[in-house]
Amino acid sequence: MPIVKEVNTTETQFARDYVNEVFETVKKRNQNENEFLQAVKEVFESLIPILAKEPQYISQGILERIVEPERIISFRVPWVDDKGNVKVNRGFRVQYNSAIGPYKGGLRFHPSVNASIIKFLGFEQIFKNALTGQPIGGGKGGSDFDPKGKSDGEIMRFTQSFMTELCNYIGPDKDVPAGDIGVGSREIGYMFGQYKRLRGGYEAGVLTGKGVGYGGSLVRTEATGYGTVYFVEEMLKDKGRSFKDSTVVVSGSGNVSIYAMEKAMELGAKVVACSDSSGYIYDEKGINLETVKQLKEVERKRIKEYVEIHPHAKYVEEFSGIWSIPCDIALPCATQNEIDENSAKTLVSNGVVAVGEGANMPSTLEAISVFQENNVLFGPAKAANAGGVSVSALEMAQNSARLSWSFEEVDAKLKDIMKNIYKESMEAAENYNAPGNLVLGANIAGFKKVADAMISQGVV
Ligand code: NDP
Repeated sequence: MPIVKEVNTTETQFARDYVNEVFETVKKRNQNENEFLQAVKEVFESLIPILAKEPQYISQGILERIVEPERIISFRVPWVDDKGNVKVNRGFRVQYNSAIGPYKGGLRFHPSVNASIIKFLGFEQIFKNALTGQPIGGGKGGSDFDPKGKSDGEIMRFTQSFMTELCNYIGPDKDVPAGDIGVGSREIGYMFGQYKRLRGGYEAGVLTGKGVGYGGSLVRTEATGYGTVYFVEEMLKDKGRSFKDSTVVVSGSGNVSIYAMEKAMELGAKVVACSDSSGYIYDEKGINLETVKQLKEVERKRIKEYVEIHPHAKYVEEFSGIWSIPCDIALPCATQNEIDENSAKTLVSNGVVAVGEGANMPSTLEAISVFQENNVLFGPAKAANAGGVSVSALEMAQNSARLSWSFEEVDAKLKDIMKNIYKESMEAAENYNAPGNLVLGANIAGFKKVADAMISQGVV
């Protein structure tokens, strides 16, 4: 069953044919880039209702233009490990769309990084950033460097080499990277130091996710996880439910996951499981977040160590098995395609009420269909995890104004932004004949802002 319900008018058929035609070209041009094609397919399908109603987006060639990055930079990153061996990784930055502001999006360091992954993330980022209501375009970058098991010195030498090349293409009004998988405040700090040294000036707004002592924003660390929970709270509220007394499963145990767990717990939920790429832990008494923070943020250890400290808990060495744990709310916060059709079916048969995507594209297209067919409240990544980039934009604003706002001030702004994203996405879904379909609503609401700006700026 398609994600978007069929409406058969001549205009809809015309829009559908147009979308299929453009998608065929995208497939030919980007062969074997499966993640990228998956992200494009989801967005394109959702846009059929708006293309049918507002044909200027077709005549102005918006789809053909928006799907092609403005620029892709690929570069060599040579560095020397602790034993004196020369290593070479590949670096990427995709500057996808600058219609509404400087390119903005994180950097991912993970061995799976390739052009397809960076392009899917960059493409999604265009619409997500527009949804935040902040003046930021879409971009993304990273490297196939694996930070796991590397010493602090190796991380520093790698990130310095990475920035030595990247600095030629970024700047506070041009392109502003941040963190993502494998890139946290330590890596941002090293990159900022190297950028500053190479440029010979203090351009605080060139990176976000900086330490609060040198231009970072309060709440940036918590923003994506908190934002996801704020978004899901809105979805639940509409159905007369809340986090209070609900059972929650959160995948991952990194930045997004830890702060999603923290906020869910604050709102009265019991979080019973989290994971890393090796396996998951199940603690029926409720996860002890202080232990997870100590293991992951301080000691950089594996999640299985949790059961050494809390022996009543269980460790299972199978990452995706986490979705077999019965829960009311599932928050996938690790990586792309971590919930497939079968996992989605298991979640549904165990009575899941809501799914909020903290990670980018964690549900396959088939999994999304399963949730929608079974009336599970579904918060897609573009909307649900937009809190991180929203606070990044607030960090840029503080850097420009040479001010820093209090935790409460930034948190209140974050909450407002998440509420607004929910409202705009619901309204778009309603206006385009798909009430409650947040996949369609978020894609259309984000698309419209970017497409209108592109039309105003001519064919560039
Ligand atoms: P972190 O590196 O802090 O944490 C990632 C977590 O996911 C770790 O527990 C990691 O386990 C696990 N993980 C990573 N890759 C895989 C994989 N291939 N299979 C299974 N588990 C995996 O990253 P973040 O928390 O920052 O990012 C998580 C997700 O959220 C990503 O999809 C990211 O794009 C998205 N996101 C992040 C934002 C941010 O502000 N940081 C903003 C918006 C979205 P292990 O330690 O074993 O690798």
